[in-house]
Amino acid sequence: QQSAKDSASARLPLRPELAGEKPYGAPQLDVPVLLNVNENPYPPSEDVVATIAEEVARAARGMNRYPDREATALRQDLADYLEMETGVHLEHLDVWAANGSNEVMLHVLQAFGGPGRAALSFAPTYSMYPEYARDTHTSWVVGRREDDFTLDPAYAAETIRRVGPSVILLASPNNPTGTALPTATIEAVCEAALAVDIDGAHPVVVVDEAYAEFRRPGTPSAVALLAQYPNLAVTRTMSKAFAAAGARLGYLVASSAFVDALRIVRLPYHLSAITQAAAGAALRHRESLMAKVATLRAERDSTVAWLREQRLPDGLPFDVAETDANFVLFGTFGDRHAVWQGLLDRGVLIRETGPDGWLRVSIGTSAEMAAFRAALTEVLEEQA
Ligand code: PMP
Repeated sequence: QQSAKDSASARLPLRPELAGEKPYGAPQLDVPVLLNVNENPYPPSEDVVATIAEEVARAARGMNRYPDREATALRQDLADYLEMETGVHLEHLDVWAANGSNEVMLHVLQAFGGPGRAALSFAPTYSMYPEYARDTHTSWVVGRREDDFTLDPAYAAETIRRVGPSVILLASPNNPTGTALPTATIEAVCEAALAVDIDGAHPVVVVDEAYAEFRRPGTPSAVALLAQYPNLAVTRTMSKAFAAAGARLGYLVASSAFVDALRIVRLPYHLSAITQAAAGAALRHRESLMAKVATLRAERDSTVAWLREQRLPDGLPFDVAETDANFVLFGTFGDRHAVWQGLLDRGVLIRETGPDGWLRVSIGTSAEMAAFRAALTEVLEEQA
């Protein structure tokens, strides 16, 4: 028997393309070892917390007023940080900020996607991209990656010319595979975009560098290509390297004309005074936070090395994807769900994602990774 409330809600005029859709999100379970959503395992240290508290208190004293709509001071701090990280000169007008790179990407699709237009990416890739497209009435087209999760530049260029998207999304390092794109591949994509006409203009290319700070030495950032390609943008986030997933601060760097287009679609005062204050405070502690990133990179490399030494129940070695991120995709298991469940039964939550048979583990503290290794060893012994 349906209640009156249930049957009333069943008659809501939900957009047909949303019927049956579930809200996005990995399970948020209360287990001892959380290695499932690529968070930074280190909480901010007490001096970082103190600066954030101070800055948030200052913001609270003026909270009767709307915040700086343009977030000028924060955008300048982000420009300074990125200039230091990449060596490319940047100004606040080249930087955009929003509530997580999720919202930045939604702004991109709101400004450059829309009915009659397509967004293109190459799978397996970040599972939110099709949602940004859906939510902005943009059609979603996905090309393929190679078996090793790299992107073939000639194939990518050919797909861009064939599909004619207005937005091209490239995650580098890619989630869930960890794969970083060489500069030549991004250049090939940008060049191919110049051959596509969208209402007298060319598509935008967005390189999603949410995990860029974890890249290995020698892996380039697409920020270096911005001067060459006015339709290129690079997104970053404070959720991973800055250990601030809870603060919700993502940003984008591009030409000021690109940023101006995003300013048209943002909601007024989209970034709260509290968010602007907390993010600015965390940025002042970049050095100590980046020291933790170095620790995580080393932990990532030793996790990869350990996984490469392991054997599947049939005696074959694991497949372990090359990774420039704070996570590793590994497999391939006949029954990956059983492995995932076995780990969870031992208090270790990882992510069942990626192509069939693969699992993704985020890099935690060395104690958490030891717990992961012990649990996985037990699960595999049980299955042998
Ligand atoms: N891009 C990629 C590739 C991601 O993996 C994530 C987070 N999982 C995001 C963007 C979004 O991050 P946030 O909104 O926290 O900045």
